[in-house]
Amino acid sequence: MTTGPLSTLRRIASTRPPPVTGERCDMCAEPIGSDHPHVVSLESRALMCTCRGCYLLFTDQEAQLRYRAVPDRYLSFPGFTTDRGQWEELQIPVGLAFLFHNSVQDRTIAFYPGPAGATESELPLGAWERILAANPALDVLLPDVEALLVRHVDGQPVCHLVPVDACYELVGRLRQLWRGFDGGSEAHEAMDAFFAGVEARSRPVSERP
Ligand SMILES: [Zn+2]
Ligand SMILES: [Zn+2]
Repeated sequence: MTTGPLSTLRRIASTRPPPVTGERCDMCAEPIGSDHPHVVSLESRALMCTCRGCYLLFTDQEAQLRYRAVPDRYLSFPGFTTDRGQWEELQIPVGLAFLFHNSVQDRTIAFYPGPAGATESELPLGAWERILAANPALDVLLPDVEALLVRHVDGQPVCHLVPVDACYELVGRLRQLWRGFDGGSEAHEAMDAFFAGVEARSRPVSERP
């Protein structure tokens, strides 16, 4: 491979699609607005843009279907705690990771935004179970369609549950903005804006709707 991060960035910049207009449902081709729901293909993990009608076909999280609707809930976990060892096990390079459970492969995966989009790694064996044991509230996480956003704020671990399409959106934006090793100021501003949005939309996990 001769492609360094810079040529990758250039390639991504030059092949970036124009601003979306006239989007259509990936399932039935019905025209949809820019603020539309998504469905995940369990096999490929691809996100599909859908109309409301197609989305509603896949909202049953228990059904034996190839697709799952991505919910739109955001939760915070005020009591979230990890000890230093557990946090280090996550090996988060730029202080931010998304964790999600892949039900097809039955494994928990962490992904870290970066210059190439996202770096994916399987969590060390048992790491997830140890964090879950210390934080039973995290058990509400749905496989495939929701992710836990974990990061350090002023030295404290902070955790939110976010829809998986929101993660992809952030990763895509960061790929466009990323400069150098740590991302540079624009990437960090995009992350800060994303966190502020997540904070604003989240309700504490113990609260019932
Ligand atoms: Zn449709
Ligand atoms: Zn979409």
